[in-house]
Amino acid sequence: MASANASDCVKVAIRVRPFVQSELTRGCENIIEKTPDQPQLVVKGDSYSKHQDCYTFNDVYTPEDSQLEIYNTSVQPIIGKLFEGYNVTILAYGQTGSGKTYTMGTCFEGNWDNPCTGIIPRALKDIFVSVKELKEKSCEVTMTCSFMELYQENLYDLLSGKSKDQSLCEIREDSIKGIIIAGLTEQPIANSTQAAQCLMEGGSNRTVGATAMNDVSSRSHAIFTVNLKVKSEEGGTTKAKFHLVDLAGSERSKKTKATGTRFREGVKINHGLLALGNVISALGGGTGTTGGYISYRDSNLTRLLQDSLGGNSVTLMIACVSPADYNIEETLSTLRYADRAK
Ligand code: ADP
Ligand code: MG
Repeated sequence: MASANASDCVKVAIRVRPFVQSELTRGCENIIEKTPDQPQLVVKGDSYSKHQDCYTFNDVYTPEDSQLEIYNTSVQPIIGKLFEGYNVTILAYGQTGSGKTYTMGTCFEGNWDNPCTGIIPRALKDIFVSVKELKEKSCEVTMTCSFMELYQENLYDLLSGKSKDQSLCEIREDSIKGIIIAGLTEQPIANSTQAAQCLMEGGSNRTVGATAMNDVSSRSHAIFTVNLKVKSEEGGTTKAKFHLVDLAGSERSKKTKATGTRFREGVKINHGLLALGNVISALGGGTGTTGGYISYRDSNLTRLLQDSLGGNSVTLMIACVSPADYNIEETLSTLRYADRAK
């Protein structure tokens, strides 16, 4: 079995999106400066954190950097790991409106040639190029995908073809098979078009809710998964899971002016993100480590991902931020979260 070098298994990238119209209308100013030729950024007017004025990550992307650039630099190099038997997880973190869905390409509409196409469709294309090569070498390749939504600790199957209340799934732990999601649809996929169809079908079934920050914002985690099994001519089998996670908005409920139901949603979402932060930080040996114990059980998000974080896996977290002074508190909170994950 393959095993990843601890320092290599978690990578963190920051992406600063361009200004959006609402920020321009408000007359917002830019607060983020990237250090030239270094994966480092400085936040201007950072009076909140007295202990730190610059942050360094594996990669830092500015508003000028394209979807292709981020894919080629941060994503493509780890796709190959799947075929070596590593589980690969890519997570997009950040406040609502920071660019998570844009970056991941969770809202793909089927236009492969659009330069705005995000990570998931690009990855699907590349995976099937490798699969074709393997098949030409007489390997037997089996692929399936699933698409889940985690909302208030409830897990929904977005590909069940049933209504929301009938698509609830249960997470079980099996001593041999590891994490099992009972009732989850595993859709067989033979090419990137079929995989993209699953992405689009599931995307149209997601839960969305209005907040003061965005007209329609996602209050849930969306987890698109590709399962890969390769049997070589000699009979050896390689198995891997590829999770692509568009996380719920990281903002605190205060800023979204949330009340009632939506306020409770905010609290729940932060609970999953907090547990994820603790797990990733512990994997990197940072704060949150409690004597080598990694607390996957603290949330359904981390339970779900437990065999794909650490150990036999490679994780990329892309933390998305706005460049505007208006969002400085959320931006600093995202940078601190990402900094802890390194
Ligand atoms: P989130 O999923 O974090 O709530 P979105 O991905 O929906 O945020 O992005 C919010 C808005 O900003 C969208 O209109 C999106 O198209 C735009 N956007 C985000 N990142 C970029 C980028 N790198 N380049 C151009 N537009 C972007
Ligand atoms: Mg989104």
